[in-house]
Amino acid sequence: MNDRNAEPSGAAYTHHHLQSIANPQAYWGEQARQVAWYRAPQQTLEALPDGTHRWFADGELNTCYLALDRQIELGRGEQRALIYDSPVTGQQATYTFSELRDEVARLAGLLRTLGVEKGDGVIIYMPMIPQAAMAMLACARIGAVHSVVFGGFAPHELALRIDDLKPRLLLTASCGLEFDRVIPYKPLVDKALTLAAFSPEHVLLWQRPQAPGDLLPGRDLDWRQALEGIAPVDPVAVNSLDPLYILYTSGTTGKPKGIVRENGGHAVAMLYTMGVVYGMSAGDVWWGISDVGWVVGHTLIVYAPLMSGCTTVFYEGKPIRTPDAGAYWRIIEQYRVNALFCAPTAMRAIRKEDPQGHHLTSRDLGSIRQLFLAGEKLDSSTHEWLEGLSGKPVLDHWWQTETGWPVTAPCLGLQGHRPAPGSSNRPVPGYAVRVMDEGGKLLGPGEQGSIVIALPLPPGCSQTLWNDHPRYLSAYLQAFPGYYNSGDGGYVDEQGFVYIMGRTDDVINVSGHRLSTGEMEDLAGQHPAVAESAVIGVHDEIKGQVPLALVVLKDGVDQSPAQVQQELVAWVRERIGALACFNRVIVVKRLPKTRSGKTLRAVLRKIADGEAYTIPATIDDPAILAEVAQALATCPA
Ligand code: AMP
Repeated sequence: MNDRNAEPSGAAYTHHHLQSIANPQAYWGEQARQVAWYRAPQQTLEALPDGTHRWFADGELNTCYLALDRQIELGRGEQRALIYDSPVTGQQATYTFSELRDEVARLAGLLRTLGVEKGDGVIIYMPMIPQAAMAMLACARIGAVHSVVFGGFAPHELALRIDDLKPRLLLTASCGLEFDRVIPYKPLVDKALTLAAFSPEHVLLWQRPQAPGDLLPGRDLDWRQALEGIAPVDPVAVNSLDPLYILYTSGTTGKPKGIVRENGGHAVAMLYTMGVVYGMSAGDVWWGISDVGWVVGHTLIVYAPLMSGCTTVFYEGKPIRTPDAGAYWRIIEQYRVNALFCAPTAMRAIRKEDPQGHHLTSRDLGSIRQLFLAGEKLDSSTHEWLEGLSGKPVLDHWWQTETGWPVTAPCLGLQGHRPAPGSSNRPVPGYAVRVMDEGGKLLGPGEQGSIVIALPLPPGCSQTLWNDHPRYLSAYLQAFPGYYNSGDGGYVDEQGFVYIMGRTDDVINVSGHRLSTGEMEDLAGQHPAVAESAVIGVHDEIKGQVPLALVVLKDGVDQSPAQVQQELVAWVRERIGALACFNRVIVVKRLPKTRSGKTLRAVLRKIADGEAYTIPATIDDPAILAEVAQALATCPA
């Protein structure tokens, strides 16, 4: 399927896409044959009355087996599976598939000794060290369900996830490293466990010399010591529908949504993605630049590359200042990376420090075939800068935590197609992408509306939320019956290229991280001086978006607005974490609203970004909007 030298005619792509939509059973039934199941599924697709679907319901497999043991069986035991590169500690290490399997099999044995059984939840709160990937794979090996929580989240966020998942075990490391700063993780875990109502029986702690953590006797165990004398265990068979992992993502409320990834559909999707979308083959070196705490970390750092026999680069560093804006180019040259994924925000940060690309041009990037960008809107100037300097195709594509793999992308394994500038490319086979207006009317080419996907979603996409199936139905399937509502707005052009313009809900994207403005409003509302607030995402040169809070104080408050501003910034930072970039708070007298009491967030966003706006007919009091516009205009960025 994958001819890298072929001129992208689009014919193969079109054929596959049509087949996948016309007859999803046959198409995905065929793709499923790529997976080394323990028990091949006889059932491919089943539609349930509530609009959700089940893929490969009677299949049996093990994801860790597919990622490691299977690769060894195929003769890749001595091939590099994982390359760890950590400029923040000065460490570099390589694990072959055999070495990684052995580490994972022993860790899986330890988990089992600690009482973790098939179906149990396990929380992983770790920095980008290989033990994080080992922990994920060890869970998969014994059929436990992992939930990785991004290490930048504050204890409050970790506690929310602990209470929702009720994990049997929590795995962590004693610290993370940011540039030259050491961030002790263990105190954060301890704090989260005091905030959470639920407590796991044990905490397994990977000690790092930069900041060892304290162990609470009885509950906490030293990872290395606990491994002593533990025997490796074999993978167990799980059902296709058994969850491999839960990954929490921000919704529009303060309660994160637990996206559920099932083993069977995921395995099919991972193999398909690596070959068809990214054009990678076994033996290639792949670099997913992200963190295991995000969906990209799951799909593109751990599962898809390993399951496809690729070498994955595992990077504990930043685009800049570890030690400089040449870090990415150094890694590509050093490990002969063939393709990479990263978020535009990282490239914008590099460009800011090295606009002429001196670092880039001083390295040999000959091994790289493409640079894939996603996670947020790719602005044309970053696109052109990167493509111009590197001389390599820079390919925008679009997906979400919910889907777990790309929805729109240039499908390199199907000879691709010429990308259209500014677009996230065409729907990948399996996805019937449409655009609808608010009333559910399908819109034509170029008309902007809600981006939706006709059901069924292809294998690998989440079909439920952990502990909250009704919320899945209401959040994704209710607005447009028969379609999945992506929460993004945009349009599709005459040639079928999809243009993503941003979220249609109260979710914002800060440095490629999805955050809920609703949650920030909830938190702001907990401050005793705050009567109400509106948090909107405003444009930022590097981060894409940052939150801006408009706050109305209660009458009779004796704190100064500056004091409240300062306290709110600290309050939200302590609860969500520094990643929220919650730094801008403006105190206003009133919020502009519609007559039915809805805050005019979309208008506020436009005013803050300096865009043209129209005053909605439903506005309650235009004078309030004028006051707020004035406050926004005079507030320093
Ligand atoms: P997450 O689930 O955290 O990966 O965030 C998914 C969201 O990021 C999507 O719903 C979009 O709003 C945004 N996003 C991802 N990729 C792109 C892209 N290529 N262009 C524009 N927005 C994107």
